[in-house]
Amino acid sequence: MTIQNTSASQTRMFTRFSWLQRRAQCVTKCNDATMEAGTAIVRTTVFKDGKRYSFLQHPECYVRQGLAYLEQHPFVPHPGGPGRKKLKLDPETRRLRRNIHAKAVYLRKERREAINKGWWWKVEILNSDMIKLREAFEQVGGVPSNWR
Ligand SMILES: [Zn+2]
Repeated sequence: MTIQNTSASQTRMFTRFSWLQRRAQCVTKCNDATMEAGTAIVRTTVFKDGKRYSFLQHPECYVRQGLAYLEQHPFVPHPGGPGRKKLKLDPETRRLRRNIHAKAVYLRKERREAINKGWWWKVEILNSDMIKLREAFEQVGGVPSNWR
């Protein structure tokens, strides 16, 4: 049984402002790193490889760290301007591509339901169908860039 894990190395990050409930250290090595309960903080939660990491910071340290990062990575205008670039396809190829996309949406939904029901035999079939869709995409402008 092989289940294609589509969220293998997915990293998600959430940031929120809150009040500190206990004493904690600011992760930024600032001068006054110890924060007491009742301090306004920025809490950053990172989900990576099935693990959860949490960081507490002064709001000022958070902003300073962010600006320092941007300074190290200067602004580079995207070639061709902002926004998604359309593939240059003739209308017929575009129509075929759309159909494959619709099929992929359907297969993902079916697979999600099969996993919920524990129908692993069906998951296997749907996975092999997904691989066939990849091949079909090659004929009409390549596999979408956001496909893993
Ligand atoms: Zn700090």
